Amino acid sequence: MRDVLKNMADYDHEQVLFGYDKVSGLKCIIAIHNTVLGPALGGLRIWPYESEDEALFDVLRLSVGMTYKNAAMGLDFGGAKGVMIHDPNTDKPEELMRAFGRMVHSLGGRYYTAEDVGTTLDDLVHVRKETPYVAGLPETSGNPSPITGWGVYNAMRATAQRIWGSDDLKGKKVAVQGCGNVGFALIQHLLEAGAEVYATDMFEDKVEQAKKAGAIPVEMDKIYDLEADIFAPCALGAILNDDTIPRLKVKGICGSANNQLLEPRHGKAVAARGILYSPDFIVNGGGVINCAEEFSPGGYNKEGAMRKAAGIYDILLNIFAIADEREIEPYEAANIYAEERIEKALQQKRMYFED
Ligand code: NAD
Repeated sequence: MRDVLKNMADYDHEQVLFGYDKVSGLKCIIAIHNTVLGPALGGLRIWPYESEDEALFDVLRLSVGMTYKNAAMGLDFGGAKGVMIHDPNTDKPEELMRAFGRMVHSLGGRYYTAEDVGTTLDDLVHVRKETPYVAGLPETSGNPSPITGWGVYNAMRATAQRIWGSDDLKGKKVAVQGCGNVGFALIQHLLEAGAEVYATDMFEDKVEQAKKAGAIPVEMDKIYDLEADIFAPCALGAILNDDTIPRLKVKGICGSANNQLLEPRHGKAVAARGILYSPDFIVNGGGVINCAEEFSPGGYNKEGAMRKAAGIYDILLNIFAIADEREIEPYEAANIYAEERIEKALQQKRMYFED
């Protein structure tokens, strides 16, 4: 692998750890992007990367995203991510997860790991046997998806406020792509609020569950063509691209999927069609809010996490205001919002204390 330090410099990373363990077969990379706001928090992605370069590229990019997300959510956490080169659909023995746990521990609390694609709560339980620097365990904050869904619902209210001058979703037509953990939680909130929900998923049983709750099923590819008010991508990334954007007949986009824009230029393409795109890393910030709640003075409290995730409503309205002020798009304003928080922390007066 070439130019690791150059890549780090390009993204302005603090530290990258390459971990290998012969016995368990562990091959991992942990990238700590920025710890100005506090220890770095970000999940472990287990994925069958085809090359080390691919894994490095992914971990560098994802860890930057965590810095922005944690900062924008007002958390005292920096950004990092771990990746493990391994197929998550094959066996993930305890030794493998424990070997990763030792790598996390070697960072002495600079990095807290958590769940991400390919990692289960059971995997985290094994990681915990080697290190306390783990968030989202079953006995602490657990599965973040219900709180993420609640955050997306509140972000959607702010999106509606911006478009129609009212945050009431009653009667609004919402097209939800993906009825998984987050999508289904969102669907339930929307139905409760009196929205008309259209839902699609790859799996029939997920669509059936949404239908039973009161949603109207839509064929998978038809979701992009639906005449609706808001499109909520809650499945995959990169779904806002040259093929799909011209097909959309909605006024707003607000969903949980990470990296919805295939490339930054697609943010402009969405805006050119008169569609408001609420930045994904703000909309789906309920997940990190839930994890971070474990570290609040009284320990994890679901009501506290829900209250903070509801605050995504105000965060998003602030971001829309920055976008207006600077005549930029909300996805650009979201980055500025996060950067300014880090910048402010850097500028705080330093004081000397005897430890
Ligand atoms: P999930 O796996 O539970 O649900 C995703 C659903 O999307 C699945 O039911 C899957 O069948 C469906 N799907 C996949 N491809 C599809 C397609 N082409 N068309 C329609 N449906 C499709 O995942 P989740 O935890 O609900 O997360 C959803 C998205 O939100 C992901 O992109 C995830 O990265 C992001 N996210 C989740 C959280 C969280 O707390 N779970 C936090 C932040 C971001």
